[in-house]
Amino acid sequence: MKNLLKTMSFVLIGILAAESIFANEVNLYTSRHYDTDDALYEDFTNETGIKVNIISGKGKALMQRIRSEGRNSLADIFITVDAANLWKLQKDNFFQSISSNKIQKSVPANLRGPNNEWVALAKRSRVIFYDSKKISKKQIRKLSYEDLADPKWKGKIVIRSSNNIYNQSLVASLIANHGVEETEKWAKGFVANFARKPQGNDRAQIIAIANGEAEIAIANSYYIGLMLSGKKGLEQKKAAQKVSLHFPSQAGRGTHINISGAGILKNAPNSLNATKLLEFLLSNKAQKHIINNTYEYPVVPVVRPNEIMSQFGKNFKEDQTSVSEYGKFNPEAVRLMDRVGWK
Ligand code: FE
Repeated sequence: MKNLLKTMSFVLIGILAAESIFANEVNLYTSRHYDTDDALYEDFTNETGIKVNIISGKGKALMQRIRSEGRNSLADIFITVDAANLWKLQKDNFFQSISSNKIQKSVPANLRGPNNEWVALAKRSRVIFYDSKKISKKQIRKLSYEDLADPKWKGKIVIRSSNNIYNQSLVASLIANHGVEETEKWAKGFVANFARKPQGNDRAQIIAIANGEAEIAIANSYYIGLMLSGKKGLEQKKAAQKVSLHFPSQAGRGTHINISGAGILKNAPNSLNATKLLEFLLSNKAQKHIINNTYEYPVVPVVRPNEIMSQFGKNFKEDQTSVSEYGKFNPEAVRLMDRVGWK
C-alpha cells in the first residue's frame, strides 16, 4: 500500500512537471489599453489552444517590471506604443531576434528593430489638425513640419509637453533627417509659436482647435478616429467634427510614422507560442480587428484602413525613415527640447 502511494505520487509529480514544461500558454505584458484587444486574444486561443495570460499596465511601469524581474521574468511578449519605447528595451538586450519568415514578409524593414528584436503591429501618423475656417486648403496643402517654425504661426499652435514620447520621437525623426543643429533652430521657432504652455493629452489639442483656442494642433492620427466614432462621448465627437486633418511632410519624405509594436523577451519561457501570437496579430483578420477598434493604420498592406480614417486621405505619403531611429536619437531629442524651453 505504502509503495503504491509512493508510486502514485511520483506519477502525479511527473504529470504536474510535464504540465508546467509543456503548458500551452503565452504570457503577454501589454500597455495597450483597449478592452477590444481581449476579444482578439480569445480568438487566438480558440484557433490554437494556446492560453493568453495578460498583464496590462502603463508602458513605463511594465518596462520597469521587466527590468527588475530580469531572468526570472515570465514575460514572453511585451506590447507597447512608440518605437522609442521598444528601442529602450532592445538597447539593453531584453529581446531576442524574432525568427519568423511570415513576420518578416508582412512587416516592412523600416517598421522592425535593427535585428528583428521587435515588430510593428499597427501604424499611426503624427499629423496636423487645423481649423478650416481660419486656414484655407491652399494654405495648408504644402504645409510641412518644418514650416511650423515660421513666425507667421506665432500664438497659433498647440501641442502636448516634451515629456511625451510621441513628441520625442517626432523631434528624433527631425534630427535623423536634418541633424541636431538645424532641428534645434527649428524647435526654437516652433516653441515660440505655441498658443499656450503645453498641457493635456493629444485629444486635448484637437479639442483646443474645435474651441478656437488655436489654429494648428499636432496629435496622432487615430485620436480623431476615436473621437468621431463616438467612443469618447458626444462632446468629443462634436469637437472632432469641427476639425480638419492635414498630412504634413518632413524633408520631402512624407508624414511622420510611428508604431504599436511587440518584442519577444530573451528569456521567454514560451517563445514558440509567442511567435505564433505575433504571427496571428499580423494576420489579415487580426489586423482588421485592430484597426477597426483603434483607428490605427494596418501594417499589412492588403488590409485597408477604417473608413473613418480613410476619409482624410487614402494614400498619403509615409516617411520611410526607420522607426528605430527614434530610439537612437531619443536622448538627443530630449536634451534638445529642454534647451529650447519646450515644457
Ligand atoms: Fe496614444
